[in-house]
Amino acid sequence: MVKCAVLGCGLMGCKIAGELARQGHRVKMTDSNAEVLNSAYQRMEEDKQELLREGLLMQGAFPGQVLCLSRLEETVSDAEFIFDAVHDNLDTKSDLLEKVSHVCQPEAVISTNTLHLDVNEVFARCAKRERCLGLRFLFPVYYIPEVEINPSRDTSSSTTERVRCLLEDMGKTLFFRSGGNPLILTEEQREERRRVVLEQLHRSSGFGRAEQANSVPALGWGGGGGGGGYHHSQQLHQVHQVQQQQLQQLLQQQQSECAICLDRARDCLLSPCHHLALCCTCAQLLHSRRDFCPVCRQPIQDVIKVYHT
Ligand SMILES: [Zn+2]
Ligand SMILES: [Zn+2]
Repeated sequence: MVKCAVLGCGLMGCKIAGELARQGHRVKMTDSNAEVLNSAYQRMEEDKQELLREGLLMQGAFPGQVLCLSRLEETVSDAEFIFDAVHDNLDTKSDLLEKVSHVCQPEAVISTNTLHLDVNEVFARCAKRERCLGLRFLFPVYYIPEVEINPSRDTSSSTTERVRCLLEDMGKTLFFRSGGNPLILTEEQREERRRVVLEQLHRSSGFGRAEQANSVPALGWGGGGGGGGYHHSQQLHQVHQVQQQQLQQLLQQQQSECAICLDRARDCLLSPCHHLALCCTCAQLLHSRRDFCPVCRQPIQDVIKVYHT
């Protein structure tokens, strides 16, 4: 399990967060727009239902936990990987990421999901720019193996390597942009990838045998290269095993540390939603600042202390 933070709860932010959680990672997300933040939970529920129908999710919950927080500092404070998915505007992104780079862990990787911007400019004011890079997921994220990597001139090779390991463990394949044009999948190409993933999932689910498949459709950009071979049915089988293990971990986690202070034990229920995610001190703090439940984004009307026996 890796601790991740996603900035921006728009369409891409929710899908990136959902994919990370589907793979068992813990995700904290935030958005400067309260309405967008408060609706993220509902939009991710809809994605879950679709994944469940398709067989890409084994149970009604993601194995990894998703928390939606109002404060940027609380979102990124313990993250190992930070994914920026706010809208593609240079001022917005560079202001946000400068701030993030000063409040996150010094070794946290900071990535930005950008289609058109120059990553050197996006990260120009960040602290420790060697851990910053561009990383673009392709819509709708869940079925799409390709992720575009775009290092800046300061990105270190160890940062690139950490990102490669994280994403390859998730069944993703990194590619570099070929020429100046970003890869944008057509509706047909998306559908083809979805079909391949589902086919391999159904084939591999019967006996749990890893199949050396290499049938992801040819990619639509000129660069070619790589050709590392996709082993999706094997990866999907592994993902399902990971989901089972991580469901157990999730249950343990939910009884452990507070989602805000990351220190004290979770020892209170939020009312009326009854989520157990916080310690009493942090819950009172959120209550007093009229904040919302980090799990479901319902207003907190009361905090109920829980006693373990
Ligand atoms: Zn706390
Ligand atoms: Zn709640």
